[in-house]
Parts: sequence; C-alpha cells; structure tokens
Amino acid sequence: MNDFEEYAAYVRGRKSSFKTNWHKEALKEIGTFEQKFPDRKPKILLHACCVVCACWPMDFLSDAFDVTLIYNNPNIWPKEEWEHRLSELKRYIHERWNDSIPLIVTEYTGEDYMKYLSERKDDPEGWKRCFGCYEKRMDEAFAYADAHGFDYFTTVMTFSRQKDSQKLNEIGLKLGEKYSRTKYFTSDFKKADGQVKSNAICDAYDLYKQNYCGCVYSFRDENS
Ligand code: SF4
Repeated sequence: MNDFEEYAAYVRGRKSSFKTNWHKEALKEIGTFEQKFPDRKPKILLHACCVVCACWPMDFLSDAFDVTLIYNNPNIWPKEEWEHRLSELKRYIHERWNDSIPLIVTEYTGEDYMKYLSERKDDPEGWKRCFGCYEKRMDEAFAYADAHGFDYFTTVMTFSRQKDSQKLNEIGLKLGEKYSRTKYFTSDFKKADGQVKSNAICDAYDLYKQNYCGCVYSFRDENS
C-alpha cells in the first residue's frame, strides 16, 4: 500500500469504525476521585496549544482538578504567532481566572521543530506529520508532569475538529505506559457542546482565533 492509499484507508476507517466515547470515559474517571483522592483534588497538567482550544477544557476540568497549564508548542510558526497565542492565553488566565491557574511555558525551538516536521511537509493536515507533532509535544509535556508529581496529564487538542480524538487518546495512553507517576486522562473536549461553550467564552473575552493550526505547512495550506 502506498502512502496515499494508506491515508485514504485511514480516512475511511475514521468515518466508519467504532469509536470510544472518550468524554464518557473521562466522566467515569472523575467519578472515581472521591475514593482515590478523598482529601484533595488531583493535580492535572493540561497541555494547551491556544486559548480557543483551552478555554472550555479549563472550565470543564477545574471543577474536578487542580489545573496547571503547559504551553509546549514549538510547532507554531512564526515566532510572533507563538508569542501572540501565548499572550492571549495569559490575558484569558488573568481576566477570567484572576491568575489562579499556573502556566508553564517551554522554550521556543521553532527552527529545529520545522526541520523535524519537514520530513513530511507534503502530508495533508491530520496525517502522519500531525501524528508525530501530537506525540512529540505530548511526550515532552507528559515527561514534565511525571517529573513534577502531577496525578494526571492531558491535552486540549481533542477539542479541535481537525484533530482525531481517537488518535490523540491512543497516543496519550501509549505514552502513559512510559510514565510511572502520572496517568493519562482521556478526553474529547468537543463533546457535550464543547464548541458552543468555547465560542461563548471567546466572544465574551474577545479572544484571538487563528485560521491555521500552527506550522508553516498548515499556514501554507490554509492560505494558498
Ligand atoms: S498541522 Fe498542526 S498538528 Fe499538524 S504538523 Fe502542523 S502544527 Fe503540527
């Protein structure tokens, strides 16, 4: 099977195959907290790629968790865009959360990251270039969570309609096998009207909505 046939089979499978309802799985896990954490909320490290994807998950998770955000996104091109998405996230944390949610920001290594992505620069969005991109950023953030004693780790990327939640959760669960301290928290932040809730928050705070995922290739494809 060549690459194109493999991609076509993947897209067909995505449409037709049975999918786990990861949102229900998330609610099930939260239902165990009273027993597992009788005296405190569990600590979760939430990987955030931008405020549009992060705002609703922050609301949803903060009821059950002590939330910390990590902005680990060297995929975003150019650096000014990385800075702008970060400043909008900070503004939202300040205006909505009174700075009560900690934010960890990792180094911007855009050039090296683009070299890593360039091996699959002609992939359509949502294919192997993206799978590698999800996994790399999640793995780095997961390692941070494990080294710093977080109970759980997850990513807001399951909010995006352009991203396959099934794939993201498979990656997260597989990465979880590497880490002994921190457990992967499955999610599908699109469910339960996530999009509607995010839109309402974005409107209320006049948040910046970018028109491309992040890398130079997604910019090229959106603007060509
Ligand atoms: S389109 Fe988005 S997820 Fe895919 S490689 Fe580019 S930045 Fe990463």
